[in-house]
Amino acid sequence: MLKFIDFIRKLIVDIFNLRNLRQELASLKQENASLKAENDNLKIDLKTGQEEHEILKQKFDVFQRMPPTEFDKKSGTLIGTKDNFRYCISCKVKTIISPLQELEHGWQCNIKECKEFYNNPEYKPPAVSTQRRIYRSRINWDTY
Ligand SMILES: [Zn+2]
Repeated sequence: MLKFIDFIRKLIVDIFNLRNLRQELASLKQENASLKAENDNLKIDLKTGQEEHEILKQKFDVFQRMPPTEFDKKSGTLIGTKDNFRYCISCKVKTIISPLQELEHGWQCNIKECKEFYNNPEYKPPAVSTQRRIYRSRINWDTY
């Protein structure tokens, strides 16, 4: 009889433990689903990060192969330290090598999406002829 009572006690304890285990299992399943969703998001972030890394690596490689330049404070252009050409700083930031076209009054970038113009600070516009102004003032003077 005592063995039977012990058996029943043990059975009740086992049933109680089994119930707790089921609750714990349900909780763990929920936690697992949550961790799986988090893991999926991290995989997406990792893939995005790897793609961004690849783009930056390619840009860096291009940047490394660009001619070395120094910034010219007066004009805002870059001057090649080896070739002495002027380069567009707006384009270099976008890792585009763009030698500037030299004009009388400045330097023109001819990259279609840029078209930046840099003034030549040493450019002096030709003096305006005073001959025509004198002529006009004479006509006005004679009229009155
Ligand atoms: Zn440019």
